[in-house]
Amino acid sequence: MPAAASQAAVPATRAYRTQVARVVRLSPHFMRVTVTDEALADFGPQGVEATTRRTGLPAWDQRIKIFLPREGGTFPDLGLFADPPPSLMEWYTAWRQLPGAEQNPIRTYTVRAIRPLDREVDIDFVLHEERTGSMGPAASWAASARPGDELVVIGPDRRSEEPGGGIEWNPGTAREVMLAGDETAAPAICSILESLAVSDEAGVFFGEAYLEVPTSGDVLEVKPPAGVVVRWLPREDSPMGELLSAAVRDWGRRRQIIFEARRAAWAPGLARVGAPAGSGEHRELSPEEPVWEVADPEGFREYAWLAGEAGVITRLRRHLVKEIGLSRKQVSFMGYWKTGRAGA
Ligand SMILES: Cc1cc2nc3c(=O)[nH]c(=O)nc-3n(C[C@H](O)[C@H](O)[C@H](O)COP(=O)(O)OP(=O)(O)OC[C@H]3O[C@@H](n4cnc5c(N)ncnc54)[C@H](O)[C@@H]3O)c2cc1C
Repeated sequence: MPAAASQAAVPATRAYRTQVARVVRLSPHFMRVTVTDEALADFGPQGVEATTRRTGLPAWDQRIKIFLPREGGTFPDLGLFADPPPSLMEWYTAWRQLPGAEQNPIRTYTVRAIRPLDREVDIDFVLHEERTGSMGPAASWAASARPGDELVVIGPDRRSEEPGGGIEWNPGTAREVMLAGDETAAPAICSILESLAVSDEAGVFFGEAYLEVPTSGDVLEVKPPAGVVVRWLPREDSPMGELLSAAVRDWGRRRQIIFEARRAAWAPGLARVGAPAGSGEHRELSPEEPVWEVADPEGFREYAWLAGEAGVITRLRRHLVKEIGLSRKQVSFMGYWKTGRAGA
């Protein structure tokens, strides 16, 4: 078969039948689970070459689906490992048609690190049940994971010629960035910052990253690019999202001051700087709409990336677009979970 034909046959995403290699309690509310499988040699964003063992691959905010075992440790047979593998639509339809008792939990997570030469992927799980009292299957699986346990991961195959999707970080022309998220977004924010830091453009990005985490013990190690300041916000007894909202509002206030100064100095270049408060194209989401919009900030200087609890993130986005005046094209916002609702 010609090389081109065999390349085209590699699907953008595929299922990996992984085993837990290691489990490390990073902090009171973060558990790092490292999974391994020979096929993870090919895991990663499309077209990215394997690098050294030390650096691994830039993972950005690459999302994955994890298939958790049913009670008793079994998985339903969805033909995930067939050749050719089923499309996302095919396996998801098959999964939805299973009787409730036969369905296994599926959840969405972020890849914290990809090490193809070691055939390993890290996933950082928030142990949220310890705080909320509700036992989610994914968090409780991670809390009791042991080496050798099986986890099916649906993620990108970097040999594919089709883009695998699942990376929402997209600053376009913007070089001033603001990232904000809660603990579920901490793996994505840390991974974005570390991917930026090893990129060819590491030196041109500047800005701030805000991470609200449950306690001061949950502040994690991260290596951002030199121009991006990371501010951890331990929630302790504050309501969810309060510290994050205050930090984003403070960023907005400081931005307004800078904006006014720039306007005074460079009035003709205004469109490139941003827009005055109240001019953003704000639209309220209906309750049925997904809390998810990916920005396309071509032509803009600033880019905001927000992820976490859906209600908190919706309010942050409303503030940035309605009150601060950022364009919707400058703000990516993603509801990673919703209070009182199980994920998928
Ligand atoms: C693109 C994407 C990437 C994500 N990346 C990560 C990641 O890297 N690490 C990570 O830990 N999570 C991540 N999440 C969030 C994760 O998918 C949800 O928290 C998920 O609901 C956890 O599943 P569960 O089975 O533990 O709980 P579920 O069964 O889904 O939920 C049970 C209950 O717990 C509540 N709940 C869920 N999460 C939390 C929480 N964090 N704090 C308080 N209450 C909660 C729910 O509202 C529900 O009432 C990501 C989500 C998305 C969409």
